[in-house]
Amino acid sequence: MSTSDRLQDQVEELKEQVTRLQEENAVLVHDRDATRRWVNDLQAGQYVNCVYCGYQYGPVDTTPDAPSALLQAHVEQCPAHPMAQLKAELMALRDGCEALIKEYESIDTQLLRDLLDSSLESRP
Ligand SMILES: [Zn+2]
Repeated sequence: MSTSDRLQDQVEELKEQVTRLQEENAVLVHDRDATRRWVNDLQAGQYVNCVYCGYQYGPVDTTPDAPSALLQAHVEQCPAHPMAQLKAELMALRDGCEALIKEYESIDTQLLRDLLDSSLESRP
């Protein structure tokens, strides 16, 4: 298997991993939003605690969006919440995939130049 083929296989594997993580992320976002609505109803005017790390803020305003906005801001950077971990993994995979694509495109371009050069050299 050539280097180009191996890189293409790695790119395809990374794309599949990114797709899988995006699907998992969509499920988690759905669950998070449902929980956020439930929390908003239960904790309007109360303190809000992160169930993963125990971080507490509040008392939150009675505005319906305020608790969810506070929760979202915390969840996105909470070191104990799976969403933050998935987001970090997704970003690392995306960066790796982009780097492999650039490397693949570079090699592919070089191969084309080599083929063109050898073709021109072999002409009488
Ligand atoms: Zn937390």
